Amino acid sequence: MPISEFDLIARYFARQDVRRPDVPLGVGDDCALLRAPAGMDLAVTTDTLVAGVHFPENTHPEALGHKALAVNLSDLAAMGAEPAWAMLALTLPQADEAWLEAFARGLLGLAARYGVQLVGGDTTRGPLSVTLQVFGFVPQGKALRRDAAQPGDLICVTGTLGDAGLGLRIAQGKLAAPAPYAEYLLGRLERPGPRVETGLALRGLAHAAIDVSDGLVADLGHILDSSGVGATVQVERIPVSAAFRELVADDWNTALGSGDDYELCFTLPPERRAELEKSCAERGECCTCIGVIEQRPGLRLLRNDGSAFDLAAQGYDHFRG
Ligand code: ADP
Ligand code: MG
Repeated sequence: MPISEFDLIARYFARQDVRRPDVPLGVGDDCALLRAPAGMDLAVTTDTLVAGVHFPENTHPEALGHKALAVNLSDLAAMGAEPAWAMLALTLPQADEAWLEAFARGLLGLAARYGVQLVGGDTTRGPLSVTLQVFGFVPQGKALRRDAAQPGDLICVTGTLGDAGLGLRIAQGKLAAPAPYAEYLLGRLERPGPRVETGLALRGLAHAAIDVSDGLVADLGHILDSSGVGATVQVERIPVSAAFRELVADDWNTALGSGDDYELCFTLPPERRAELEKSCAERGECCTCIGVIEQRPGLRLLRNDGSAFDLAAQGYDHFRG
């Protein structure tokens, strides 16, 4: 007999390891009851993943559960917010218990790692679609916003860029890679690790921040537009992985244009650089400064020898299309 909606919720989404003291009432009533700490702003974000649009129909459900939460946690990280609660709106073609079990494992596993409690949601029948909403806390006035970059700031990024883009090409059969590289790059695509700790460490240190979901040029562009500034980026300083270097060498186009990496791009007053490096070293994470914010509007891309890097000539639009 197929599982009922109520049993499904109880079995897969009501039992969980995280029980937060700021959740007087979680899954099971008409509303959840939540208590935000005094002095904190509530940071709220939501993202929808639709089968056939944002992921292939046959995506492994555990990876899907992980990614649906990870992309939202990445938004919190980009604001310097500490994750607390999540809500899940799930639309399923049928109640496949093996699928649900794996999906819940991916979702709740990542939630537990960050102490996030799933406090409610909605379950409906229809074409597969996953909407996650997450809530986090940031001290009042301390959020890292897109509109706060200042001329003279260094432009920095966490981790490496372009990996998820290569993972997508591997998944689509457009790029061949030896097993260890393929595994790493597909992992970057399917199980992104949100930079939550870095986002928290950047509070009071960085001026502006954004997470790289659509590609560095597009996302840095949002910071520039919102802040009313321009920038110069040294393209050949963009950090790329060993797998990236081995497979596509210096394909800066991919590093600049491909999305889904969920790294952070932020701007930093230059006098805070030593503090940033100390803080990164303490967490064993890597941040790379790749450019500088300028008064003059627009984004200028340079090679190490000082010559201009022409995105359009490199087929950037084609890649985006
Ligand atoms: P209502 O009809 O009052 O909106 P529902 O029957 O939709 O309530 O949901 C019952 C309870 O289960 C609510 O607390 C709701 O938040 C929770 N819930 C429903 N679907 C999910 C889900 N996919 N994940 C987590 N909680 C859920
Ligand atoms: Mg109700």
